[in-house]
Amino acid sequence: MLASATIMEPIETDYLVIGSGIAGLHFANLASAHGRVVVVTKKAPNESNTNYAQGGVAAVLAGDDTFERHIEDTLVTGDGLCNPEVVRMCVEEGPAAVQSLLDYGVRLARGADGELDLTREGGHTRRRVVHYEDVTGREIQRALIETTARNPNITILDDHMAVDLLSMAKYGGDPACFGAYVLDRRSGEVRTVVARATILASGGASKVYVYTSNPDVATGDGVAMAYRLGATVSNMEFFQFHPTVLFHPQAKSFLISEALRGEGGKLRLGNGERFMDSYHPLAELGPRDVVARAIDNEIKKSGADSVFLDMTHLDATFVRARFPNIHDACLALGIDITKQPIPVVPAAHYMCGGVKVDTSGRTTVRGLYAIGETSCTGLHGANRLASNSLLEGMVYAKRAAEAVRDAVPARPAKVVPWSSGNATDSDDAIVVSLNWDEIRRFMWSYVGIVRSDKRIDRARNRIELLRQEINQYYWDFKIDSDMIELRNLALIAHLVIESARRRKESRGIHYTLDYPDKLPDARDTDLQLTQGPPP
Ligand SMILES: Cc1cc2nc3c(=O)[nH]c(=O)nc-3n(C[C@H](O)[C@H](O)[C@H](O)COP(=O)(O)OP(=O)(O)OC[C@H]3O[C@@H](n4cnc5c(N)ncnc54)[C@H](O)[C@@H]3O)c2cc1C
Repeated sequence: MLASATIMEPIETDYLVIGSGIAGLHFANLASAHGRVVVVTKKAPNESNTNYAQGGVAAVLAGDDTFERHIEDTLVTGDGLCNPEVVRMCVEEGPAAVQSLLDYGVRLARGADGELDLTREGGHTRRRVVHYEDVTGREIQRALIETTARNPNITILDDHMAVDLLSMAKYGGDPACFGAYVLDRRSGEVRTVVARATILASGGASKVYVYTSNPDVATGDGVAMAYRLGATVSNMEFFQFHPTVLFHPQAKSFLISEALRGEGGKLRLGNGERFMDSYHPLAELGPRDVVARAIDNEIKKSGADSVFLDMTHLDATFVRARFPNIHDACLALGIDITKQPIPVVPAAHYMCGGVKVDTSGRTTVRGLYAIGETSCTGLHGANRLASNSLLEGMVYAKRAAEAVRDAVPARPAKVVPWSSGNATDSDDAIVVSLNWDEIRRFMWSYVGIVRSDKRIDRARNRIELLRQEINQYYWDFKIDSDMIELRNLALIAHLVIESARRRKESRGIHYTLDYPDKLPDARDTDLQLTQGPPP
């Protein structure tokens, strides 16, 4: 039985972009100068990590700043695993990337002198982060969507979710990519989109952890699809954790900014005791990964659900004026932060690894490109310097938009439409929700902030069983977006576990009790389908 009653003709385009965040939309606008572009995005066009970015975009713009300093800050944070050539390239293209944002009409904050206002963030030795209030990503997303909507060469298909990439291997060739199967979430039809070049701009995968700052769309679909196609995936063990996200059943992913600790907030256990003094001389103001690790350790030791960030000793008027959004958001959930400590947990925030690409976003598979958080470029290495990721999205979108001009078309004479065989409607949706929950919980406990061989092995045993069950379910029933995401998330979990298992050292944000030291040589963890079990 076919997925749809009528077989629909493939959608033909030059460039298929999967994702409508900063990377996907910047690429689409540039590539539209030399080809037709179709952008598929699985929910509303503004539902992306980009939309939630708060801080801003890093670029060397201040008189007292230099490219060398930004390069050095990035390399130090990346802990020996950055590709220095890539770091230099991104840093040097930073000012032009900021100019492009201005050209799109992004309103960036300016000082009284009319110059761009530059803030300083952790790990940066100079002020170099351009921003728009504390909602920079939302402003970027707005401007990009408005510009894209006016472009006659770009079609955005919202509520359209890429299911899998089209591979010439199915037609007896090499795995060259020529488009994707795409689920129209409203009608349930699976369409075929055929393209000269396919660009993964599908963002991160932090939903693989039960606590995350990311929106629901961040399920690693791009990495999973690329891996299934045979592309190399790198450094998936490096997930950056933000120390403090609100712990509340109705607050899915609300960030409690580091500025609260900056203004004197204290971290406490449930019994009111402070604990950061014994982890770092700067206590609550220690580096992000140290604070995240300390909170994780205290939660694991006590078995509690969270720790607490206490602002109650500070002047209530000051707290309300300085943090109006956080104050109001917490109050709406029944927490008055001027009178009650805020329950917080660390949360998965950013995927440093991804689909391995060259300096133009080319993956190891012909016809397939990856840009933005879904890619692994070598910029971040073992840890990301704050505000370098929006920059990376801009730089690689531009480079890929140039590179695709030379894409050599690869496509069969007749494209086989999607078929769901004998699949029937699912009779057991609970399988999806239970497995979803289980994966995210054991990933958090066993392959989260502090790892060990034993923990990783426990996660490994569980994920292999679950993947068998999920794959069986996937092929037996008609697909829907929940099922697609679960299958992808399970593969992401497998890739993180496998990468963490192979790294026998602690480096950057990969910290394991069994190998607390760094090895002399820094190496990428590369995974490819042929080396592992079937997806
Ligand atoms: C709370 C928060 C704060 C942050 N603050 C900053 C900051 O200040 N500075 C900074 O540099 N970085 C920040 N980051 C990180 C940064 O926002 C992201 O790394 C960046 O926006 C990623 O952009 P992207 O275009 O690669 O992906 P995204 O913006 O995540 O876009 C991915 C797109 O792909 C779509 N998609 C996914 N799967 C599919 C599929 N199967 N089919 C179709 N579409 C699909 C999604 O719906 C979405 O449209 C922050 C992140 C978060 C969550």
